[in-house]
Amino acid sequence: MDWHNLNVSDVLKKFKVDENIGLNNISVAQKQINCGKNILKEKKSKSVLAKFFEQFSDFMVIVLLIAAAISFVTSAIKGNQDYIDSIIILFIVIMNAIIGVAQESKAEKAIDALKKLSSPKALVPGDILLLHTGDLVPADARLIESFNLKAEESSLTGESLPVEKEANRTFSAGATLGERRNMLFSTSTITAGHGKAIVVETGMNTQVGKIAGMIINENSFQTPLQLKLEKTSKILGICAIAICAVIFLLGVIEKVPPFEMFMIAISLAVAAIPEGLPAVVTIVLAMGVRKMAENRAVIRKLPAVETLGNATVICSDKTGTLTQNKMTVTQICTEDGRINFSSELGQKILILGTLCNNSSITYANKEFRAVGEPTESAIVLAAAENGQIKTDLDREFPKKYEIPFASDRKLMTTVHRLPSGKFRVITKGAPDFLLDRSSLCNGRAFSADLKRKVRMQNENMAKSALRVLAIAYKDVDSIPHSHHDAEKDLNFCGLIGILDPPRPHAKLAVRECKSAGIKPVMITGDHIITAKAIASELGILSDSNKAISGAQLEKMSQDKLEKDIFDYSVFARVSPEHKVRIVKAFKKHGETVAMTGDGVNDAPALKAADIGCAMGIEGTDVAKNAADMILTDDNFSTIVEAVRQGRGIFENIKKSVHFLISTNIGEIITVLTAFLLKLPSPLLAIQLLWINLVTDSFPALALGVEPVDNEIMNHKPQDKNAALFSRDGWRKIVIEGCFIGAISFLAFSIGRVFFDVSKTPIIGRTMAFAVLSLSQLFHSFNVRSEKSLFKIDILSNMKLVYSFFLGIILQVAVISIPALAVIFRTANLNFVQWLIVGLLSASPILVVECEKMLLNHKS
Ligand code: ATP
Repeated sequence: MDWHNLNVSDVLKKFKVDENIGLNNISVAQKQINCGKNILKEKKSKSVLAKFFEQFSDFMVIVLLIAAAISFVTSAIKGNQDYIDSIIILFIVIMNAIIGVAQESKAEKAIDALKKLSSPKALVPGDILLLHTGDLVPADARLIESFNLKAEESSLTGESLPVEKEANRTFSAGATLGERRNMLFSTSTITAGHGKAIVVETGMNTQVGKIAGMIINENSFQTPLQLKLEKTSKILGICAIAICAVIFLLGVIEKVPPFEMFMIAISLAVAAIPEGLPAVVTIVLAMGVRKMAENRAVIRKLPAVETLGNATVICSDKTGTLTQNKMTVTQICTEDGRINFSSELGQKILILGTLCNNSSITYANKEFRAVGEPTESAIVLAAAENGQIKTDLDREFPKKYEIPFASDRKLMTTVHRLPSGKFRVITKGAPDFLLDRSSLCNGRAFSADLKRKVRMQNENMAKSALRVLAIAYKDVDSIPHSHHDAEKDLNFCGLIGILDPPRPHAKLAVRECKSAGIKPVMITGDHIITAKAIASELGILSDSNKAISGAQLEKMSQDKLEKDIFDYSVFARVSPEHKVRIVKAFKKHGETVAMTGDGVNDAPALKAADIGCAMGIEGTDVAKNAADMILTDDNFSTIVEAVRQGRGIFENIKKSVHFLISTNIGEIITVLTAFLLKLPSPLLAIQLLWINLVTDSFPALALGVEPVDNEIMNHKPQDKNAALFSRDGWRKIVIEGCFIGAISFLAFSIGRVFFDVSKTPIIGRTMAFAVLSLSQLFHSFNVRSEKSLFKIDILSNMKLVYSFFLGIILQVAVISIPALAVIFRTANLNFVQWLIVGLLSASPILVVECEKMLLNHKS
């Protein structure tokens, strides 16, 4: 349909819609059935079966499959029909694949949920859209009204510059997409102005939907830590295989039967590869992200979780993030000082401010409510409370033209028709920008002395932390042709002071930042004096650092800025481009920078920062798309809380990895010692698999959800380039692993020497199996904290307590239930044997407690 060829009223008639009311719920539901949902069909996700088979390409799985096959063939050759080993290995491999598929699907769902979050709401043709700068156009729509509206539609037309849009024109049926300037197309963004439009096509019927093979933006959903761990696991795996091969050869030379040798080699490989690790890390990350979302920080890109924990600088907008964005007009001043709102001049200033304004007002329950940008709403409300209602004023002085507010110009201008037929140009904006455009001051020539007086009033208001807007106007015969013509020779009327109190917890959050070694920085479009007043109140500005304005920044070279960047903690009257310079300057010093943003022009800074944080409420779609994280409550404290969570998640993952690797080392030591002493293998491959994939997984996961340590924000951030574990950290892991290996081997030896009667050391194996598994369950409590176990609340991580008992039950089951004992080749242990197992298994607690005591004593 050539919507661009029809005029607005025809389009509205076609959809039977009133542009002021929109569609009712019933017709929306009907249309959704007829036209389908407003979504683009993406390439089909892989089938479950395909995902299942993909799991078998994993290196570890291939090793296990070969093991199963060889075990099967040898049993067949031997003719003993003992296929249990191969069946169990196969079973474990299949279980592993099923878990893999489940996890992959879960991850996909999480990603879908994230996509949904950033994709536009349900729409149907006929819906009315109100669009502002920064909005993402959610469907194809015909414009009804436009004010200096520009849209960026390069992905559709290839035209990189924003296109000016005009509601009141029609274009020939054959016009190209780029020429249809009364239309807005889905996925383009509004870069300037505002407008109203009616949805004409949705979903696959939009122009974007028609482009076949759309490129779908796939984000990398693996974090640097995951990549690092994957690499470590691979290296461990390859080393294990190499060692296995050598051992296998040695064994063959020593004339150990090849099959036995092979099974030992396989055991070793299984012991060395931390099979559970990737799954545990993914699950812990996913759970962490969910927890963060509950705390109002929605992570859009998974790596941000880790980066957050390393943040060293947080650059935050003032309005709405550090302050409440609940604005109230508290003062009106002229060159001579404060005046009453109800005075003649006071009323005039409020009327002018209300006309040059896009907020709207309603009256319900004996209360006025304003909808729109908070600064503008404050003025509309103040006027209404003094008897000047915007709707009435708009009727009396209809708006004919508008130059929208932009944060780089800091001015907004509207033109209204006066009853006399003349036009009134009204400009409101930052006083320092508006004074230079005014030649009169309440009818008098604007002398240098008067300007000085106005500036002094402005400073006084700013010192009380008020946001100040100047109001000026002029009457003209016709609508001015250019911005320049409109905004010159104005008659300055007065200043409006708006109070926006700090958020209740902002001060506390700033203090927390500082004790965590993070530098809080305030960036604002407001006047430097207003900014300083609020920054001092919040504790961001202190004696040791300074405030700087955008104008000063403009004159400063990037080199100088980089050199002095740490001296500043307040940047005032900045424009969005300055934000990029600030981020770059901090990054030059290797800092990890979080930066907030809401406007279209903030997108480059959000991308340049290590953690771009977009505002969920005030933020534009463009900013949200560029961000790594969305703050659903626009609150500074939420960023600080997210950093705390990020640090906690990272520490917990470290604990899980610590636990799992010490476990693997224990296993290697047990198997290797026996081999070197030419003893039979103390553990079978399936027993090791059981420990790695079952009994160890629960404590590892429980460690991943440890409550965040209260003191975590009293430490400096970790260096982002630091290895996962320090040298001391590794030493600890290895020592603990060796100890677990030693006690398991001891259990094996005791069982073999004192209790086994036949040649097969079945009791020795069972005891080693039990000690290896149970000692790790005890050891999981050691890993919880650097502090003594007796100094932390054991019950503060109930999941770990449950997994401890679950692990014990499962382990006792595979030994004591005859059917399982056959599968796992275990023997039923008597009381004395269990006692030995119990004592040995609990011993890591004793040893690690001594180690902690020594270390804490040293430090
Ligand atoms: P922050 O960076 O702290 O969030 P901000 O980005 O909201 O602040 P701007 O919106 O750029 O800051 O506002 C800067 C100045 O522009 C204000 O101090 C005020 O004087 C003026 N101003 C703000 N909103 C408007 C508006 N709607 N019309 C005219 N002038 C405005």
